[in-house]
Amino acid sequence: MNSLSIVVPCFNEQACLDTLHERLSSAARTTFGDDYEIVLVNDGSTDGSWPIMQQMSAADPHLVAVNLSRNHGHQLALTAGLDLARGELILVIDADLQDPPELLADMVETMHREKADVVYGVRKSRKGETAFKRATAHGFYRLLASATDVDIPLDAGDFRLISRRALDMFLAMPEQARFIRGMVAWIGFKQVPILYDRDERFAGDTKYPLSKMLRFAFDALTGFSSAPLKLASHAGLALSIGSVVIVLFILYAWLTGRSIPGWTSLMFVVVVLGAVQMFVLALMGEYIGRLYNETKRRPLYIVQEIAGAEHRTGRLGQ
Ligand code: UDP
Ligand code: MG
Repeated sequence: MNSLSIVVPCFNEQACLDTLHERLSSAARTTFGDDYEIVLVNDGSTDGSWPIMQQMSAADPHLVAVNLSRNHGHQLALTAGLDLARGELILVIDADLQDPPELLADMVETMHREKADVVYGVRKSRKGETAFKRATAHGFYRLLASATDVDIPLDAGDFRLISRRALDMFLAMPEQARFIRGMVAWIGFKQVPILYDRDERFAGDTKYPLSKMLRFAFDALTGFSSAPLKLASHAGLALSIGSVVIVLFILYAWLTGRSIPGWTSLMFVVVVLGAVQMFVLALMGEYIGRLYNETKRRPLYIVQEIAGAEHRTGRLGQ
């Protein structure tokens, strides 16, 4: 068991690896001496990342490198690394050095001072990112915040320091679509922000093209909010209520003799059937929402501590 694990997902980052290794090692040494490990996860890179990682792990006993079978995506690569981490504290950081490893000392200090379980980096500024990326990120975090009940921090990435017990809770969440910063927020305990300036990428291009960004945003929204489903079922209900008005109008037209033969019965059937269908769809939507929640199989609640547990016998007091 080490005191610190640093987990880094890497996808085609060969140009960053050397400097990454150097800066991570020296940041870890400053605070933890020799008591740390670095877990690099190769997420199916097609460049020379893996051979470099193998060499680095042969030369440095602090470094473990994991090779995934193919590109599984940032969030899953990170999960693989977190599964393997053995530290009491776990630092999650990107490979491109946009988040400064030197912040580690401050993060550890903040964690102890605030007795927090999570210290997450919040971007004060973002250098070297396109206006489009900044604008979409800005909009995305705010949209997500308005659509979900979980307190997901604004403008925070995956750069964070996590305690062992919070990590164990995270690993107990087996859901497939993983939006990690949301899942960590969901866990609760005390989570405090730390402000920092985000640098430019050290080398290479972003590994998040628009398609991956959209997938990511979609996973976040559907995983942490049932707002889209609610929208559909509310629209369904509104439409089926609206159809009552139409039916009244049809009857009125029929009674006042303003309809041609056959129109009344035809319209009646169309509107009523439509309304029933909408209503049933809305109902099914509700059940699917529940099913979806059940299939995530998250823990029902998380206990932070129990006072007076020593007076009890049985499960909680053991
Ligand atoms: N990454 C990964 N798998 C992917 C895409 C990205 O492991 O399929 C890693 C990447 O190597 C980096 C981190 O995820 O360490 C964040 O990616 P990037 O810096 O390109 O995203 P951006 O900062 O542009 O949002
Ligand atoms: Mg980056």
